[in-house]
Amino acid sequence: MTRLDSAIRRLTAQRDLLDWASREIAPTGLVLEVGLGNGRTYDHLRDRLPGRDIYVFERSPAAHPDCIPPADRLIVGDVFETVPSFIERVGPGSAALIHVDIGTGDEALNRALAQRLSPLLETLLQPGGLLLGDRAFDLPGATDISARTGVAEGRYYAYRRN
Ligand code: SAM
Repeated sequence: MTRLDSAIRRLTAQRDLLDWASREIAPTGLVLEVGLGNGRTYDHLRDRLPGRDIYVFERSPAAHPDCIPPADRLIVGDVFETVPSFIERVGPGSAALIHVDIGTGDEALNRALAQRLSPLLETLLQPGGLLLGDRAFDLPGATDISARTGVAEGRYYAYRRN
């Protein structure tokens, strides 16, 4: 498989999973986008979930100008600093959907990051809330439902809070 094939597969999985989650999401609860990047997935979520409160976490915002969230919805800084204060602000169990895409090419670093981030994100999920991630997360209070999403195994991960 070429790098182009691989990029297309990854983006297709991402879009299919966001579409799946947009159908599955509970009618109330926040939507959190962790990692704005150039804003592609944020743009997709806001299109698929009109009217929902979407908060975006990003340490150095540099998205396409059309894809910058409103100032009061963009939380700038390192997630390990901003997510704990966000939990204090909105309370645990406030999120209906969290999408996390903050990985880099360094797999060891990605695993460590996911491990460290897992308890924070689990705290934010409401019962029945969904977490979608570009890698596996360690969520003892949630069920791995990746196999039920229709996305090929190991390409993207989905969890539902118990
Ligand atoms: N999903 C995005 C899109 O479709 O355009 C791409 C996200 S990009 C792969 C990852 C983003 O996560 C980068 O913009 C990076 O700055 C951000 N990021 C990585 N680690 C972070 C951290 N610890 N705190 C906050 N943002 C972080």
